Amino acid sequence: MKQIMEEYFLSLESGDKKIAWCTSVGPAELLRSFGFEVYFPENHGALLGATRTAMELIPEAGKCGYSNQVCSYTTADIGAYLKKNTPLQKHYGMQGIPKPDIIAYNTNQCREVEDWFTFYADEFNCPIVGIQPPRYLDEVTDDEVQLVVKQFKKMLPVCEQVSGRKFDLDSFKETVRLSKEATLLWQKVLKTSTAMNAPLSFFDGTIHMGPIVVLRGTQIAKDYYTTLLAELEENVKNGLGFAPEAKTRIFWEGMPIWGKLRMMSDLFTASGSAVVASTYCSSWVFGQFDEDNPWESTARAYTEIFINRSEKAKMKMLAAWFEEFNIDGIVYHDTKTCFNNSNAKFGMPQRLQKETGVPSLVVEGDLCDLRFFSEGQSITKIETFLEQLEDAKILS
Ligand code: SF4
Repeated sequence: MKQIMEEYFLSLESGDKKIAWCTSVGPAELLRSFGFEVYFPENHGALLGATRTAMELIPEAGKCGYSNQVCSYTTADIGAYLKKNTPLQKHYGMQGIPKPDIIAYNTNQCREVEDWFTFYADEFNCPIVGIQPPRYLDEVTDDEVQLVVKQFKKMLPVCEQVSGRKFDLDSFKETVRLSKEATLLWQKVLKTSTAMNAPLSFFDGTIHMGPIVVLRGTQIAKDYYTTLLAELEENVKNGLGFAPEAKTRIFWEGMPIWGKLRMMSDLFTASGSAVVASTYCSSWVFGQFDEDNPWESTARAYTEIFINRSEKAKMKMLAAWFEEFNIDGIVYHDTKTCFNNSNAKFGMPQRLQKETGVPSLVVEGDLCDLRFFSEGQSITKIETFLEQLEDAKILS
């Protein structure tokens, strides 16, 4: 993993390829088909959270008028740019973040990415293209898919002009094929934790998902997940799990608390609980990709993602995951600066509990800004919840 990520980041600075910036669930396959190397500012935001540098950078964005109540990926990333300070320098010896030749965003996840990426388009005086699909859908019909296909196709002249290449359908198909194969392997990786002695925790998944975010559409991502899957399947066969003593199985809903991954992982394990599945890691499973139908299939896959669905559709997906992963309880991370990926604000935990019988807990925190996370209070809440779950299981 370390080597793959290092090579990826260094490739962004090598000058061999033009650089496209893209949102994490944006049309990366189309960009790659033009020969762009693709950089994902959200991945950088996660790095700022995980290295806990975000807190010193967010106020820098505040000085330019960005409220500390908005997405802390956005504010940490803009703060890092303004301060010319990124962990990429220390970790990979890079000069800084790579300069974009083109920027693409997809508001399938939130409108914040439009504001965020437009800031950079202005800074770098760089072409920007945006996809704005219909949002919060019960079902994704052909009408919505065709609308998104039209928007994808509108990107072509800009991509052609910046890359200096004509659009090549075969190259697009090949990228979609590689992406599909990697994403299906990633799905199988996540599903290994349907085993009762699960080999992969949610917390480990947030690290292993690096290649499916930044390298989908490449052979590298496919090879990585082929190897990882074989190793995890071997662990399942040999009964090797990450928490063999676990009495309860938990579903994590919402964003990770990047600066507290280790603490959270240890907390659940020490409390006899295994966090075996999440909406977050599953967000990069694009089962609809089909190289024989690259436009419609990518438009559908990127519009159907969990975050872009109605509450009814989300509840259906969650209930299916509960069954599949044998879930005893769900923990919702109510993320202060990302209401888009927080599902605990409008009564869904209560409604879903009533429907499925799976008890829930809401933990308040943030993806990057740890000033919104009370560690002591959260530990007490989680420990109490897990004790109650275990007691209820014994009694039943
Ligand atoms: S989904 Fe949330 S965390 Fe991700 S970019 Fe949008 S506001 Fe930020």
